[in-house]
Amino acid sequence: MEEKMTENKGSAGELAGKVALVTGAGRGIGRGIAGKLAAQGAVVLINYNGSQQRAREAAEEIIKAGGSAECIGCDVSDFTACGEMVDNIIKKYGHVDILVNNAGVTRDNLIMRMSEEDYDRVLDINLKGAFNTIRHLSRQFLKQRSGKIVNISSVSGVLGNAGQANYSASKAGLIGLTKSVARELASRGICVNAVAPGFIDTEMTQALPEKAREAGVAAVPMGRMGSVEDIAELVAFLAGGRSDYITGQVICVDGGMAI
Ligand code: NAP
Repeated sequence: MEEKMTENKGSAGELAGKVALVTGAGRGIGRGIAGKLAAQGAVVLINYNGSQQRAREAAEEIIKAGGSAECIGCDVSDFTACGEMVDNIIKKYGHVDILVNNAGVTRDNLIMRMSEEDYDRVLDINLKGAFNTIRHLSRQFLKQRSGKIVNISSVSGVLGNAGQANYSASKAGLIGLTKSVARELASRGICVNAVAPGFIDTEMTQALPEKAREAGVAAVPMGRMGSVEDIAELVAFLAGGRSDYITGQVICVDGGMAI
C-alpha cells in the first residue's frame, strides 16, 4: 500500500471529529461523497487505485474549502493491502467512524461472450473489495461500539440488467453483504446500509455508446440522469447521526427506475 499525505485541519459541522474512509474517491461519485462528508466536518481518507493525481486534486479541493483530507492508494480487491490500509488509518487516527464502499467497475458483455477474467475482476473489486474493507474495519467498529457503513450498490443489482451479469451479480451480492453484516453488527450500534444509484452522470456512464445512454435515460421515469450530488446527499445522511435507527436498508436514488 502506498500512502500519500496531504493535510489535516479541524472543521465544524455534523460530522466534525469523524474519520471517514471512502473507496474510489479520486473521481466520480466517490469524489462527490468525499467532498460532501468533508464539508460536514469529517476528516476524509480518499482511497484511489489508478487515479493518484485526481485523488490529490480532490484532497486539495477539500483542503482549500477548509476541510481535511488525505489520499491513500490501495487496490480494494487486495485483501492484504486493505488490511494494511486499515491498520495505518487506525494507527494514525485511533478511530474510524464512516466507511463508504464506493469503488466499482464495469466490464459489460452479453453472458455468452463474457470472459472469465471480466467476471472475476468485477466481482473482485465491487463485491470482494467491500468485504475486504468491512472485514478489516469490523473489529475496530465493534470495539468503538459505533460506525456507519454505506455500500454503493446499483439498481442493476436490484433489477438485473442485460449485458451486465457480472456487474449486477456483484451489486446484488453487495445487498446480501449489507443485510447480513447489518444483522451481525446492529446490537453494537453499527449501521450498515446500501445506496443503489440509477443512471448517474459520471465517466462510467459517459463511456457508454450514445444509444445506450439514450436507452438509459428512457428507463428513468423522471426522464433525466442523476448527479453525483444526488448520491452524496443520501450517503452523508446515512453517515451521520440523523440515521442512527436505519440499518440493513437498500435505498434507490434513481429517479424512479426501480419502481
Ligand atoms: P467511475 O467514475 O468509473 O469511478 C470508479 C471509481 O472506482 C474510481 O474512483 C476508481 O478509482 C475506483 N476503483 C476502481 N477500481 C478500484 C480498485 N481496484 N481499488 C480502488 N478503487 C477502485 O464510476 P462512478 O460512476 O463514480 O461509480 C462509483 C460507484 O457507483 C461504483 O461502485 C458504481 O458501480 C456505482 N454506480 C454508478 C452508477 C452510475 O450511473 N454512474 C450507477 C449505479 C452504481 P481509480 O480511478 O483510482 O482506480
